[in-house]
Amino acid sequence: MNDCLFCKIAAGQIPSTKVYEDDDVLAFRDIAPQAPVHVLVIPKKHVSGWYDAKDESDALLGKLMRTAAAVAKMEGVVESGFRVVSNCGADAQQTVKHLHLHVLGGRAMAGEMA
Ligand code: 5GP
Ligand code: ZN
Repeated sequence: MNDCLFCKIAAGQIPSTKVYEDDDVLAFRDIAPQAPVHVLVIPKKHVSGWYDAKDESDALLGKLMRTAAAVAKMEGVVESGFRVVSNCGADAQQTVKHLHLHVLGGRAMAGEMA
């Protein structure tokens, strides 16, 4: 997966503004934020999308969601509210084919989930 942007970010080959990191996951600020808080949470291991996730990734997938919640706490948007989004495929406008969650907060969201 040498050509994967988020693999390169996870490996530190492309710089990012990190919010949280451990052995399994990385959370970093989106380069084009859609809200005052816009953080991406990725597995360090390459998983291209939800349909590429194998059974052995269940713990990792759970950890991704728990990390999204922890990021919301760190960013101070638990009380005001936040949204977790994961785009899958062309219609959803997934642009980076490495599984990721968007954590969005700090403003009132529109109703169309965007
Ligand atoms: P998607 O559209 O695949 O759901 O989300 C990809 C996200 O990655 C977009 O919100 C885009 O702004 C963000 N992004 C693309 N390239 C970079 C980058 O080089 N650095 C960071 N931090 N975010 C990026
Ligand atoms: Zn990747």
